[in-house]
Amino acid sequence: SKADFNGTEKENTSISKLFEDIRELTYPSIVDTDVNVISRMESDLVISTYRDELKQVLLNLFINSIDALKHKEKPRNLLINGCRENGQAILSISNNGPAIPAENIKTIFEPFFTTKELGTGIGLFVCKKIVEKHGGSITCESDEDLTVFTITLPAT
Ligand code: ADP
Ligand code: MG
Repeated sequence: SKADFNGTEKENTSISKLFEDIRELTYPSIVDTDVNVISRMESDLVISTYRDELKQVLLNLFINSIDALKHKEKPRNLLINGCRENGQAILSISNNGPAIPAENIKTIFEPFFTTKELGTGIGLFVCKKIVEKHGGSITCESDEDLTVFTITLPAT
């Protein structure tokens, strides 16, 4: 069965619509932080997901990017990409904020790892769990130019 332990089922999900929802939810902090959101989205990217859970993943990544950009002079860019590649959906959220130190890259997905005064360190842990529940993976690459979180999902 496609039903998970909550009894919810996967639903056909428009990725561009999901990102529109996220942009609406984060609009106040996007404006406050003066972030440019740059979208390169395949318009007809529709995949089967636990929609509310994937939305939580994208929201967490968006908020982390905005938090990172608060520590960067302008321009502050947040880039979102979505495309299909080799039968998979590839989604990425990137920003031009300060690099994540190499020694932190290994631990950011672990529970309770945070560098924020009021952080919980739960966000990326939850992201990883949800992406893995979809049979996908999440990775992070970061240097002084760009921090990129990439999600690969089977496009069933
Ligand atoms: P929290 O946001 O509560 O700190 P997360 O699990 O979402 O917890 O993130 C863990 C840590 O990973 C953050 O405290 C930060 O150090 C780092 N991090 C996550 N996303 C980014 C990002 N986009 N840019 C820089 N650092 C990041
Ligand atoms: Mg977070």
